[in-house]
Amino acid sequence: MTAQTEKRRRVAVIGAGIVGACTALEMARAGFNVTVIDASQPGGEQAASYGNGAFISPASIIPMSVPGLWRKVPAYLLDKAGPLTINWTSLPRLAPWLVRFLRAGWTEERLRRTVSSLDSLLHDGPDRHLALAQTVGAPSLIQRNGILYAYPNRAAYLSEAPFWALRRQAGLQWRELDAEALHAEEPALAPCYSFGVLVESGAQCLDPGAYVRAILAASGATMKQARVTGLAHEARSVIAVETEFGPVPTDIAVLTAGMGSAKIARTIGDNIPLEAERGYHVELPDPPIRLRRPVMPSDGKMANTMTAGGLRAAGQVELSSADAAPDWRRADILLQHLTRTYPALASVDQGKARRWQGNRPSTPDGLPVIGAASLSGLWYGFGHGHLGLNAAPHTAALLADLVLGRPTGIDIAPFSHKRFARAG
Ligand SMILES: Cc1cc2nc3c(=O)[nH]c(=O)nc-3n(C[C@H](O)[C@H](O)[C@H](O)COP(=O)(O)OP(=O)(O)OC[C@H]3O[C@@H](n4cnc5c(N)ncnc54)[C@H](O)[C@@H]3O)c2cc1C
Repeated sequence: MTAQTEKRRRVAVIGAGIVGACTALEMARAGFNVTVIDASQPGGEQAASYGNGAFISPASIIPMSVPGLWRKVPAYLLDKAGPLTINWTSLPRLAPWLVRFLRAGWTEERLRRTVSSLDSLLHDGPDRHLALAQTVGAPSLIQRNGILYAYPNRAAYLSEAPFWALRRQAGLQWRELDAEALHAEEPALAPCYSFGVLVESGAQCLDPGAYVRAILAASGATMKQARVTGLAHEARSVIAVETEFGPVPTDIAVLTAGMGSAKIARTIGDNIPLEAERGYHVELPDPPIRLRRPVMPSDGKMANTMTAGGLRAAGQVELSSADAAPDWRRADILLQHLTRTYPALASVDQGKARRWQGNRPSTPDGLPVIGAASLSGLWYGFGHGHLGLNAAPHTAALLADLVLGRPTGIDIAPFSHKRFARAG
């Protein structure tokens, strides 16, 4: 610890999802006195970290916005059972974010830059999680059996060939499976899938909510339940986190509040475009099949994972306001895909399926916001969109490096919030 950081002993972590939990642990390991502030129960259903697809996939380096996407969007939107929907009354508010979103993936060059930044953050995600689960005394919560991408046929895989080529360039390795090999690897899959890609380095979490709680418990951080409303500062240096119950004095604050982060950042003048890519999951308790590893069927665009609660299907992108009521028809679409993908589920009582809705905290360019805020002593770690489970341990390590003034090992300039000011 340098002389400058020596004086700054107290760290307040705002938000106790997977990013906040990992950050609290890293800061505690670095010798800080850590307080975690969350408006709700850590690891609870309000957090994206509770209900995600539980994939820890080094293949998740392709952002949502890619060249030519605009041509496909109308078809997606017209397909009522498709993976994307938009609440038209929210369109005027969403429009600036959508324009930035499309611009971010407009050219091959922009896509390549984003892939490279995401790869630097995600490529060793499974290794980091395996080590983390050991450290916090919950080794069984992370399992590495690979991740299987299932396609109706080879042509469907080839239609995504440019993305797999980018993954190859990033160093990812996988095994291609013909129909026979695919069904040997995952016998529960419907016969209509005849081509697969097995990414053997991929891993999964068995219980994302319990994982968050285990990490927080291991951090030894002081927990405070309160809604954060802003930050108090003197001479542009943070001195306290403002909450509904009064200020929490601190030397350093780290904002890891997922979807709640942009509102808090705005109170100090940092305007960061963050929208909710709302998602859903359905979970079938005691299903008649057990997947050997997580599966992503290319047509359903959903993550199918065995979790502590059963067989989970997570997915869908619903662009609407973060606090709108859930539209459970989106969860039903996932359930329909699930029963089509695994015929043995046809006999299952669908009434037993548990349904969940949560908000992916998404920036328009698909990159999280990691780094210094405009206030001295305030650091950002949010905006992880579709990949926050995977990226959380690395994000937390980067934040600890930054706070301690250590080299980060990767180029973090692409994650700065200042990129949005530059882009206008
Ligand atoms: C359907 C779906 C599937 C997904 N699948 C995957 C996947 O397979 N793999 C993957 O890597 N990622 C996946 N993701 C993305 C991942 O879940 C998120 O990126 C990640 O959970 C974000 O974590 P977080 O800690 O930033 O935010 P969150 O988990 O949302 O936590 C934020 C916390 O901040 C608290 N908070 C918010 N505002 C305030 C405030 N003002 N005051 C105090 N506390 C506050 C909240 O209560 C919450 O506990 C998926 C997401 C969804 C929705």
